[in-house]
Amino acid sequence: MHTQKLSEHISIIDLKPVGLEKFIGSYVLKGEKATAIVETGPTCSVPNLLSGLREIGIENDDVDYVMVTHIHIDHAGGAGTLLAHLPKAKLVVHPKGAAHMINPDKLWEASKQVLGRVATAYEKIEPVPQNRVMTPTDGQTFDLGDSLQVKVLETLGHASHHLGYFENETRGVFQGDAAGIYLPQLDVTIPTTPAPFNFELTMSSIKKMEQLQPQRLYYTHYGPLDNAVGRLEKYRGQLDLWAGVVSEAVKRGDSEDSIYKQILEHDRQMKTALDFITKHLVLREGVLMQNIQGYVDYFRKKSLA
Ligand SMILES: [Zn+2]
Repeated sequence: MHTQKLSEHISIIDLKPVGLEKFIGSYVLKGEKATAIVETGPTCSVPNLLSGLREIGIENDDVDYVMVTHIHIDHAGGAGTLLAHLPKAKLVVHPKGAAHMINPDKLWEASKQVLGRVATAYEKIEPVPQNRVMTPTDGQTFDLGDSLQVKVLETLGHASHHLGYFENETRGVFQGDAAGIYLPQLDVTIPTTPAPFNFELTMSSIKKMEQLQPQRLYYTHYGPLDNAVGRLEKYRGQLDLWAGVVSEAVKRGDSEDSIYKQILEHDRQMKTALDFITKHLVLREGVLMQNIQGYVDYFRKKSLA
Protein backbone atom coordinates (compact mmCIF):
# COMPACT_ATOMS: atom_id res chain seq x y z
CA MET A 1 0.00 0.00 0.00
CA HIS A 2 1.40 3.35 -0.97
CA THR A 3 -1.83 5.35 -1.09
CA GLN A 4 -3.84 6.97 1.63
CA LYS A 5 -7.37 8.35 1.56
CA LEU A 6 -7.36 11.87 3.02
CA SER A 7 -11.03 12.86 2.65
CA GLU A 8 -14.11 11.70 0.80
CA HIS A 9 -12.69 12.78 -2.56
CA ILE A 10 -8.95 13.19 -2.02
CA SER A 11 -6.14 10.62 -1.78
CA ILE A 12 -2.36 10.80 -1.80
CA ILE A 13 0.02 8.46 -3.60
CA ASP A 14 3.52 8.19 -2.16
CA LEU A 15 5.57 8.16 -5.37
CA LYS A 16 8.74 6.88 -3.69
CA PRO A 17 11.17 8.05 -6.40
CA VAL A 18 14.47 6.16 -6.13
CA GLY A 19 12.91 4.39 -3.14
CA LEU A 20 12.57 7.57 -1.06
CA GLU A 21 9.44 7.38 1.08
CA LYS A 22 7.35 10.45 1.97
CA PHE A 23 9.35 12.77 -0.25
CA ILE A 24 7.17 13.34 -3.34
CA GLY A 25 3.40 12.88 -3.36
CA SER A 26 0.76 13.01 -6.07
CA TYR A 27 -2.76 13.87 -5.01
CA VAL A 28 -5.85 12.38 -6.62
CA LEU A 29 -9.18 14.23 -6.57
CA LYS A 30 -12.10 12.12 -7.65
CA GLY A 31 -15.46 13.80 -8.25
CA GLU A 32 -18.54 12.27 -9.83
CA LYS A 33 -17.90 14.17 -13.07
CA ALA A 34 -14.14 14.28 -13.36
CA THR A 35 -10.89 13.08 -11.82
CA ALA A 36 -7.78 15.18 -11.41
CA ILE A 37 -4.23 14.35 -10.39
CA VAL A 38 -2.10 17.08 -8.84
CA GLU A 39 1.66 16.63 -9.55
CA THR A 40 3.20 13.85 -11.62
CA GLY A 41 6.53 13.53 -9.87
CA PRO A 42 9.51 12.57 -12.04
CA THR A 43 9.50 9.98 -14.84
CA CYS A 44 11.09 7.27 -12.68
CA SER A 45 8.09 7.07 -10.34
CA VAL A 46 5.31 7.07 -12.98
CA PRO A 47 4.86 3.26 -12.54
CA ASN A 48 4.22 3.87 -8.82
CA LEU A 49 1.72 6.59 -9.68
CA LEU A 50 -0.14 4.26 -12.04
CA SER A 51 -0.24 1.41 -9.52
CA GLY A 52 -1.44 3.94 -6.93
CA LEU A 53 -4.37 4.83 -9.19
CA ARG A 54 -5.26 1.11 -9.36
CA GLU A 55 -5.09 0.89 -5.57
CA ILE A 56 -7.53 3.82 -5.26
CA GLY A 57 -9.84 2.22 -7.84
CA ILE A 58 -9.22 4.58 -10.73
CA GLU A 59 -8.76 3.39 -14.31
CA ASN A 60 -6.34 5.13 -16.65
CA ASP A 61 -9.17 6.43 -18.83
CA ASP A 62 -10.97 7.91 -15.79
CA VAL A 63 -8.39 10.68 -15.46
CA ASP A 64 -9.40 14.03 -16.98
CA TYR A 65 -6.77 16.45 -15.67
CA VAL A 66 -3.15 16.20 -14.70
CA MET A 67 -2.44 19.45 -12.86
CA VAL A 68 1.12 20.46 -12.09
CA THR A 69 2.15 23.28 -9.78
CA HIS A 70 5.25 24.04 -11.84
CA ILE A 71 7.53 22.41 -14.34
CA HIS A 72 10.49 21.48 -12.11
CA ILE A 73 11.48 17.86 -12.74
CA ASP A 74 10.35 16.58 -9.31
CA HIS A 75 6.84 18.01 -9.85
CA ALA A 76 6.17 17.66 -13.59
CA GLY A 77 9.07 15.71 -15.09
CA GLY A 78 6.88 12.62 -15.46
CA ALA A 79 4.04 14.39 -17.30
CA GLY A 80 4.90 13.16 -20.81
CA THR A 81 5.33 9.56 -19.71
CA LEU A 82 2.19 9.68 -17.55
CA LEU A 83 -0.03 11.20 -20.24
CA ALA A 84 0.97 8.43 -22.65
CA HIS A 85 -0.88 6.09 -20.21
CA LEU A 86 -3.93 8.33 -19.61
CA PRO A 87 -5.80 8.57 -22.94
CA LYS A 88 -8.27 11.30 -21.93
CA ALA A 89 -6.16 13.44 -19.63
CA LYS A 90 -5.11 17.04 -20.28
CA LEU A 91 -2.06 18.59 -18.68
CA VAL A 92 -2.85 21.78 -16.73
CA VAL A 93 0.24 23.99 -16.48
CA HIS A 94 1.17 27.66 -16.10
CA PRO A 95 1.30 29.40 -19.52
CA LYS A 96 5.02 30.13 -19.00
CA GLY A 97 5.76 26.44 -18.46
CA ALA A 98 3.72 25.01 -21.34
CA ALA A 99 6.36 25.31 -24.09
CA HIS A 100 8.88 23.45 -21.91
CA MET A 101 6.46 20.58 -21.38
CA ILE A 102 5.81 20.34 -25.14
CA ASN A 103 9.52 20.47 -25.96
CA PRO A 104 11.39 19.52 -22.79
CA ASP A 105 14.94 19.49 -24.26
CA LYS A 106 16.04 22.70 -22.53
CA LEU A 107 14.27 21.76 -19.31
CA TRP A 108 16.00 18.38 -19.27
CA GLU A 109 19.40 19.95 -19.95
CA ALA A 110 18.84 22.54 -17.21
CA SER A 111 17.68 19.81 -14.79
CA LYS A 112 20.86 17.83 -15.40
CA GLN A 113 22.97 20.93 -14.97
CA VAL A 114 21.36 21.96 -11.67
CA LEU A 115 20.66 18.54 -10.15
CA GLY A 116 23.39 16.37 -11.67
CA ARG A 117 22.97 12.72 -10.79
CA VAL A 118 19.60 13.38 -9.11
CA ALA A 119 18.22 14.37 -12.53
CA THR A 120 19.61 11.21 -14.09
CA ALA A 121 18.02 9.12 -11.32
CA TYR A 122 14.70 10.95 -11.85
CA GLU A 123 14.99 9.99 -15.55
CA LYS A 124 14.50 11.87 -18.80
CA ILE A 125 11.61 14.30 -19.27
CA GLU A 126 9.42 13.14 -22.19
CA PRO A 127 7.38 15.62 -24.29
CA VAL A 128 3.64 16.23 -23.89
CA PRO A 129 1.67 16.60 -27.17
CA GLN A 130 0.68 20.23 -27.67
CA ASN A 131 -3.02 19.42 -28.12
CA ARG A 132 -3.11 17.92 -24.62
CA VAL A 133 -1.87 21.01 -22.81
CA MET A 134 -4.19 23.48 -21.05
CA THR A 135 -2.97 26.82 -19.72
CA PRO A 136 -5.50 28.17 -17.21
CA THR A 137 -5.88 31.75 -16.03
CA ASP A 138 -5.51 32.82 -12.42
CA GLY A 139 -8.79 32.10 -10.61
CA GLN A 140 -10.09 29.65 -13.22
CA THR A 141 -12.22 26.91 -11.66
CA PHE A 142 -12.46 23.24 -12.57
CA ASP A 143 -15.72 21.55 -11.61
CA LEU A 144 -15.14 17.88 -10.75
CA GLY A 145 -18.74 17.18 -9.68
CA ASP A 146 -20.11 16.34 -6.20
CA SER A 147 -19.67 20.11 -5.67
CA LEU A 148 -15.93 19.51 -5.66
CA GLN A 149 -14.15 22.43 -7.28
CA VAL A 150 -10.53 23.24 -7.90
CA LYS A 151 -9.50 26.85 -8.29
CA VAL A 152 -6.24 27.86 -9.93
CA LEU A 153 -4.04 30.27 -7.97
CA GLU A 154 -1.06 31.89 -9.60
CA THR A 155 1.63 31.73 -6.92
CA LEU A 156 4.91 32.99 -8.36
CA GLY A 157 8.22 33.46 -6.58
CA HIS A 158 9.67 29.97 -6.19
CA ALA A 159 9.43 29.91 -9.97
CA SER A 160 8.02 32.20 -12.66
CA HIS A 161 5.69 29.39 -13.75
CA HIS A 162 4.14 28.39 -10.42
CA LEU A 163 0.47 27.67 -9.71
CA GLY A 164 -1.32 26.52 -6.59
CA TYR A 165 -4.69 24.76 -6.56
CA PHE A 166 -7.38 25.42 -3.95
CA GLU A 167 -10.10 22.84 -3.40
CA ASN A 168 -13.30 23.50 -1.50
CA GLU A 169 -13.98 20.13 0.18
CA THR A 170 -11.28 20.36 2.85
CA ARG A 171 -10.42 24.00 2.04
CA GLY A 172 -6.98 22.80 1.08
CA VAL A 173 -4.24 24.31 -1.05
CA PHE A 174 -1.94 22.15 -3.14
CA GLN A 175 0.93 24.52 -2.65
CA GLY A 176 3.69 22.87 -4.70
CA ASP A 177 6.92 24.58 -3.68
CA ALA A 178 5.33 27.92 -2.75
CA ALA A 179 5.27 27.19 0.99
CA GLY A 180 8.39 25.08 1.46
CA ILE A 181 9.27 21.46 1.99
CA TYR A 182 7.76 19.71 4.99
CA LEU A 183 9.74 16.83 6.41
CA PRO A 184 7.18 14.67 8.24
CA GLN A 185 10.00 12.58 9.73
CA LEU A 186 11.09 15.62 11.78
CA ASP A 187 8.02 17.88 11.75
CA VAL A 188 10.19 20.61 10.24
CA THR A 189 9.74 22.95 7.26
CA ILE A 190 12.68 24.01 5.13
CA PRO A 191 12.66 26.72 2.47
CA THR A 192 12.77 25.84 -1.20
CA THR A 193 14.30 28.89 -2.83
CA PRO A 194 16.69 27.94 -5.66
CA ALA A 195 17.73 30.60 -8.21
CA PRO A 196 16.03 32.42 -9.82
CA PHE A 197 14.18 32.95 -6.54
CA ASN A 198 12.06 36.08 -6.09
CA PHE A 199 11.59 36.92 -2.42
CA GLU A 200 8.92 39.62 -2.82
CA LEU A 201 6.78 37.52 -5.16
CA THR A 202 7.10 34.49 -2.88
CA MET A 203 5.90 36.51 0.12
CA SER A 204 2.92 37.94 -1.78
CA SER A 205 2.00 34.47 -3.06
CA ILE A 206 1.96 33.15 0.51
CA LYS A 207 -0.26 36.04 1.59
CA LYS A 208 -2.52 35.32 -1.37
CA MET A 209 -2.96 31.75 -0.10
CA GLU A 210 -3.59 32.99 3.46
CA GLN A 211 -6.37 35.27 2.22
CA LEU A 212 -8.38 32.23 1.15
CA GLN A 213 -8.40 31.13 4.80
CA PRO A 214 -7.45 27.56 3.90
CA GLN A 215 -7.61 24.87 6.56
CA ARG A 216 -5.17 22.46 5.06
CA LEU A 217 -1.94 22.59 3.13
CA TYR A 218 -1.14 19.72 0.80
CA TYR A 219 2.64 19.55 0.45
CA THR A 220 4.09 17.82 -2.59
CA HIS A 221 7.10 17.30 -0.30
CA TYR A 222 5.30 15.80 1.72
CA GLY A 223 1.77 15.29 2.94
CA PRO A 224 -1.33 17.06 4.26
CA LEU A 225 -1.14 19.39 7.25
CA ASP A 226 -3.84 21.29 9.11
CA ASN A 227 -3.58 24.81 10.55
CA ALA A 228 -2.77 26.06 7.06
CA VAL A 229 -2.89 29.78 7.86
CA GLY A 230 -0.62 29.36 10.90
CA ARG A 231 1.83 27.35 8.83
CA LEU A 232 1.86 29.89 6.02
CA GLU A 233 2.51 32.70 8.51
CA LYS A 234 5.30 30.67 10.08
CA TYR A 235 6.86 29.99 6.69
CA ARG A 236 6.80 33.72 5.93
CA GLY A 237 8.61 34.23 9.23
CA GLN A 238 11.26 31.71 8.23
CA LEU A 239 11.75 33.38 4.83
CA ASP A 240 11.99 36.77 6.57
CA LEU A 241 14.63 35.41 8.91
CA TRP A 242 16.69 34.19 5.94
CA ALA A 243 16.17 37.53 4.19
CA GLY A 244 17.56 39.37 7.23
CA VAL A 245 20.62 37.12 7.47
CA VAL A 246 21.36 37.07 3.73
CA SER A 247 20.80 40.76 2.98
CA GLU A 248 23.17 41.79 5.80
CA ALA A 249 25.72 39.17 4.75
CA VAL A 250 25.58 40.33 1.12
CA LYS A 251 26.23 43.93 2.25
CA ARG A 252 29.31 42.74 4.16
CA GLY A 253 30.43 40.64 1.18
CA ASP A 254 30.36 37.38 3.19
CA SER A 255 31.06 34.14 1.32
CA GLU A 256 28.33 31.59 0.59
CA ASP A 257 29.95 29.22 3.09
CA SER A 258 29.77 31.83 5.81
CA ILE A 259 26.12 32.57 4.93
CA TYR A 260 25.38 28.85 5.17
CA LYS A 261 26.79 28.80 8.71
CA GLN A 262 24.89 31.94 9.67
CA ILE A 263 21.60 30.43 8.46
CA LEU A 264 22.19 27.30 10.54
CA GLU A 265 22.98 29.48 13.54
CA HIS A 266 19.76 31.48 13.26
CA ASP A 267 17.19 29.00 11.88
CA ARG A 268 16.38 26.33 14.43
CA GLN A 269 14.36 24.27 11.92
CA MET A 270 17.34 24.11 9.56
CA LYS A 271 19.62 23.11 12.41
CA THR A 272 17.21 20.31 13.35
CA ALA A 273 17.04 19.15 9.72
CA LEU A 274 20.75 19.26 8.94
CA ASP A 275 21.59 15.69 9.91
CA PHE A 276 18.54 14.36 8.02
CA ILE A 277 19.42 16.44 4.95
CA THR A 278 23.03 15.27 4.83
CA LYS A 279 21.85 11.63 4.82
CA HIS A 280 18.97 12.13 2.35
CA LEU A 281 19.58 10.75 -1.17
CA VAL A 282 18.26 13.88 -2.88
CA LEU A 283 18.49 16.68 -0.31
CA ARG A 284 22.15 15.95 0.38
CA GLU A 285 23.01 16.81 -3.25
CA GLY A 286 23.41 20.50 -2.49
CA VAL A 287 19.74 21.43 -2.06
CA LEU A 288 20.49 23.55 1.00
CA MET A 289 23.27 25.43 -0.78
CA GLN A 290 21.02 25.98 -3.84
CA ASN A 291 18.38 27.57 -1.62
CA ILE A 292 20.97 29.87 -0.08
CA GLN A 293 22.28 30.68 -3.57
CA GLY A 294 18.76 31.67 -4.67
CA TYR A 295 18.60 34.14 -1.77
CA VAL A 296 22.13 35.44 -2.31
CA ASP A 297 21.48 36.07 -6.03
CA TYR A 298 18.24 37.87 -5.25
CA PHE A 299 19.73 40.20 -2.63
CA ARG A 300 22.93 40.81 -4.64
CA LYS A 301 20.85 41.91 -7.63
CA LYS A 302 18.72 44.05 -5.34
CA SER A 303 21.76 45.75 -3.79
CA LEU A 304 23.07 46.55 -7.29
CA ALA A 305 19.73 47.94 -8.46
ZN1 LIG B 1 10.37 23.57 -7.57
